[in-house]
Amino acid sequence: MATQQGKLIVFSAPSGSGKTTIVKHLLTKPELHLDFSISATSRYMRNGEVNGKDYYFISPEDFQQKIAENAFVEYEEVYKDNYYGTLKTEIERIWAQGKHVIFDIDVVGGLNIKQQYPEQTLAIFVSPPSVEELERRLRFRQTESDEKIAMRLAKAEREISRAPEFDVILKNHDLETAKTDAYQLVTNYINK
Ligand code: 5GP
Repeated sequence: MATQQGKLIVFSAPSGSGKTTIVKHLLTKPELHLDFSISATSRYMRNGEVNGKDYYFISPEDFQQKIAENAFVEYEEVYKDNYYGTLKTEIERIWAQGKHVIFDIDVVGGLNIKQQYPEQTLAIFVSPPSVEELERRLRFRQTESDEKIAMRLAKAEREISRAPEFDVILKNHDLETAKTDAYQLVTNYINK
């Protein structure tokens, strides 16, 4: 596959919608030729996360430096003082391997990628059953304080209102069904 034929598959959704699980599932399928765009972030590293695998964990100063160097395709202060961004070098790295890039990024970031690469991007919005179910999932995960959960829920409501701007809305009411549907969507798109 030539470099310029690589595609971009964006999964965006409110935190807790299951998009990370779906993305990880697709990455286990070698026939899809996908590789994960590892974002840079200035947030703290959670238990079990690996630097250079889940994210490039960098300091807020280094993050600002990369902004100044114009190193990002898109970046955002997703939560207060927590920056996240897609490095240009990630897309280049993955396309150079002849693979398609898969992203797990927030709604604004996902739409930014789509806007910059309209011909090569499939933007999928993963929709949770309801905001109440999202809250239940976030509490069950036990990775965030009550205050942070409240922040994520407020953001979720704003994000859900932008779902119609995506190419596809993938309902995640049942995880196994959502995984199968995601596999089908990506297969159809990359073989187009
Ligand atoms: P978390 O802190 O739960 O890992 O991620 C918080 C949010 O930031 C999630 O919605 C995640 O998808 C999003 N995110 C991760 N990487 C990026 C990125 O590079 N750009 C943008 N815009 N959002 C990102």
